[in-house]
Formats: sequence, C-alpha cells, structure tokens
Amino acid sequence: MTATEAARTFRELFGQEPSGVWSAPGRVNLIGEHTDYNGGLALPIALPQRTYAAMRLRDDGLLRMSSAHAGDAVSEVSLSDVRPGHPTGWTAYVAGVAWALEQAGHRVPGADIVVVSDVPVGAGLSSSAALECSVMAAFDRLLHIGMLGQPAGRARAAHLCQLAENDIAGAPTGGMDQAASLRTTRSHALLLDSRSGAVRQVPFEPERHGLALLVVDTRAEHALVDGQYAERRATCEHAAEALGVATLREVPMDGLDEALDRLDDERARARVRHVVTEIERVVRCVAALEDDDFDTVGELFTESHASLRDDYEVSCVELDLVVDTALGCGALGARMTGAGFGGSAIALVRADEIETVSASVERAFADSGLKAPASFAVTAGGPAARDL
Ligand code: ADP
Ligand code: MG
Repeated sequence: MTATEAARTFRELFGQEPSGVWSAPGRVNLIGEHTDYNGGLALPIALPQRTYAAMRLRDDGLLRMSSAHAGDAVSEVSLSDVRPGHPTGWTAYVAGVAWALEQAGHRVPGADIVVVSDVPVGAGLSSSAALECSVMAAFDRLLHIGMLGQPAGRARAAHLCQLAENDIAGAPTGGMDQAASLRTTRSHALLLDSRSGAVRQVPFEPERHGLALLVVDTRAEHALVDGQYAERRATCEHAAEALGVATLREVPMDGLDEALDRLDDERARARVRHVVTEIERVVRCVAALEDDDFDTVGELFTESHASLRDDYEVSCVELDLVVDTALGCGALGARMTGAGFGGSAIALVRADEIETVSASVERAFADSGLKAPASFAVTAGGPAARDL
C-alpha cells in the first residue's frame, strides 16, 4: 500500500486530484507497558507499516471518507453533527481529528479523504493512531496550522489525536500511540515520559548488531478487552489515591516495598508492583541500548513479559506461547506488547534466525490448534510526514 495508491483511489472515487497524501506509522512498544496512564515511561518505535491519507478540502461542512480496509464505500458525516458517540465505527477516528482541531480553535471547512494502510488493524500495533495522525498531518498542512513543523507542535498534534480517540471514538487510551506516530525519528525509539510529556530519541538499530526485532501478530480475538483495560486503569488510580500520590509514577523503585505494605488488596499490590518495576525496566533498557548491550535489552523484555503475565494479568495463551517458543529457539528476549489479551508480541532475535523463530512459532500455534499468526521483522521507521 502506498501513497500513489491512495491518490489513485481518490481520483477514482472523487473524480479529482487530492491536494496531497500524508502518512503516519503504526508503532510497537519495546518496553514500558500499561505505564502511560500512570504517568510513567514507555519506549515505542514507529513501524515501517503506515497509513496513508489522500485529502482535499471541501467548503460545505462535510467529511466524505473512504478506506480500503472498510470496503471502499464512501461514508459521509456533517462536521456539525460530530460529537461523543457520533459517528460510530472507523469514521469516528477521522471525524474525531476534525472535531479536536475545531475544539482547539481551528475551523475545518470539510474534506474528502481516502485512506489506505498496511498497518495490521486491531493487532495492537496502533492502526488507530496511524489513522488519526495521517489525517492530522493532512489537516495541519491544508489548514496552514504548521504544528508538524516543530517538536512542540507535534506534541500538541499528538494530544489532539488522543482527544479524538478518547472523546469521539470512545477508546480511553493513554497518549503513547499518538506520540509514537508523530514524535519518533527514524532508527530511534522514543522515550516518552507521560508525566511531563517530554520525549527523548534513543538509537535503536539492532540490525547493525546482527539482530532483528520480530513482531508476531497473534490474531487472537478475546472478548472483554475494553473492560479489562478500564479495570486496570481504575485499580491503578485507586491505588495512587490510597498512597496519596497523583499517579503511580510518584512511587520510586526503592519505595516500592513500603508502598506495597500500605495496600491491603493483594491484586492492587500486584498491579502496583508491575507499574513501578516496569518504569524501572524502561530506564534500564534505555541505558542498555545506549551501551549497545542487547543481551540486557533482551533480558528486560522477558522480565517485562513475566510481570505483565503474573502481576498485571493481561497476557493470554497465544502471547505466552509466542514468548516461550521464541525463547526456546534462543531469542535474546521476548514479550507481549500493547494492551494485551491478544494483539502482538515481540522477540529480539539473531538476524539469521528470523525464519527459524517464525516457523517454530507457526508450528507451535498449529500444534495448539490456534489460528495461524503473522510474523515480520521491523526496523524503526519515521514519523508522520507528507508523501505526495
Ligand atoms: P489497533 O490500534 O491496535 O490496530 P484499535 O482497536 O485501537 O486497534 O483500532 C482499530 C480500529 O481503528 C479499527 O476497528 C477501525 O475502526 C480503525 N482503523 C484503523 N485503521 C484503519 C484503516 N486503515 N481503515 C479504516 N479504519 C481503520
Ligand atoms: Mg489503537
């Protein structure tokens, strides 16, 4: 899927040239899971897979939207009708961006939009943020807002995309996905501090060390995912309240035992232990990457997985199977990534073992009677940008 394809479909559907094509990447989080809504640290990279938005402004207050993923039909929404709960479905992510821009004082006159994407949808690789951020990049340019021209503006754009997802699409996610899509740089991971909103670029080029980052989309579908996410957030918020802190970020690693002693619910203790140790693992992972110490990076991945599986309880059979199989094949480390209960896992493997690990994971899934997963190696891609 490319920018050219988005432009061609635009011409076919709308009978004229788009004003341009903009794209934004999906992301995979290296480490720092379920930390963003706790004011903590995360370390995503942008994927090479991207969502492309071809756009042309209209002046009649309508958004007309089409996506190959949603079957190429054109959906129409009046901008004045956009509100929490309307529209529903995929167009909420697009209309939400226009709505968020209007909330921020930018008048959106209407637009025709065609979306094509090679980001796997619903795989925990943030196709939703890729969609929002590609549309944001297009509006930013066509409305002459200029946010994407400087880092502070990109932070603002990421925040508006998060509002679109939270308020219009109704998904109560933290801000990591949008930051990854708008604020990363190629060949780097993004150290995101969700307390301050600050970011730092951390070199991430395992390919220069004979290594590769393998992503495995488990294609697992588990019900109740949204409820579980909201429940974890609520537990963390209540624990922070009980400890008298704004967020769990305020609990330092060396104050963890004392904090745990002050909580009387066993489950809340386990959740807090995950969050606090996970933030510490991000700090150690950044140091290891800066030292080119990929053995330690791998160990931290595996520790993170154990914490998410045992303390945060957001893993599932499929994710555990990827991790155990990859480690059994000699991966340096492996973990689930994203919110959990399905979605994707990552493994840090030797480049010449990509095929072996992928094949072993595929066999393990078949032996367990599970739907075939999709595996692919990725490098750290670039942020949202104009293509055509
Ligand atoms: P993830 O972000 O992990 O892929 P989400 O559930 O957050 O999963 O977002 C997936 C939703 O985003 C889809 O159900 C769809 O509504 C929307 N979406 C993402 N990419 C596209 C696309 N290319 N075309 C249409 N809708 C998309
Ligand atoms: Mg998403």
